[in-house]
Amino acid sequence: MKIIFLGAPGAGKGTQAELVAAKAGIPTISTGVILREAIKNKTPLGVSAQSYIEKGQLVPDELVIDILTARLKESDCANGYILDGFPRTISQAEALDKMNITIDKVVNIYVPDEKIVERLAGRRSCGGCGATYHVVFNPSADGVHCTHCGKELTQRADDKPETIKERLRVYHEQTAPLEEFYRNRGILCDVVGQEELSETTALTMKALDLK
Ligand code: AMP
Repeated sequence: MKIIFLGAPGAGKGTQAELVAAKAGIPTISTGVILREAIKNKTPLGVSAQSYIEKGQLVPDELVIDILTARLKESDCANGYILDGFPRTISQAEALDKMNITIDKVVNIYVPDEKIVERLAGRRSCGGCGATYHVVFNPSADGVHCTHCGKELTQRADDKPETIKERLRVYHEQTAPLEEFYRNRGILCDVVGQEELSETTALTMKALDLK
């Protein structure tokens, strides 16, 4: 099973992708997580990507396509995977086609822009295992540390209000056209993001025929 999660930043792609991945027994591949890890470790990839991410812009297609191509060669991808945050441009989607990758379903999570701003401002993530939380909608057990690995939670540098606006602009301009791209192929399922995380999960599982 090969699934793409589409949606604005903060719509809940990563959270839902992790839940579906656990249920389906396949990995989630998040280009954002790979890039943040590279920045943390100051690798050449991280150094090239950092300024784009900090400005809320997209990292150049060639870079992310190379990252994804390498990641998909790993053995845990043999039975399928979930792509979270890739593709983000039509060129990236065409790169998947060129690799002869057949996507089964694309889950498009819709959340209005006003809500996105509220969600991203309250988002916290774990620098250890990458788990994500929200101070109100999805807090960790003690509100300060990761429930899974115990590391302290932090706010992503690109979840600051100035950057959020640019990320939304970029989303509408460069990523939203992918909805039409995949709708035309008959594989897009729309999920309206709910206030309650569990309700969004129920809608997502239904869209994917998972119980
Ligand atoms: P995310 O964690 O998916 O919100 O990604 C964080 C940031 O990483 C984005 O705002 C982009 O700057 C960059 N990024 C992640 N995935 C991609 C991608 N597929 N194409 C271009 N830039 C990306």
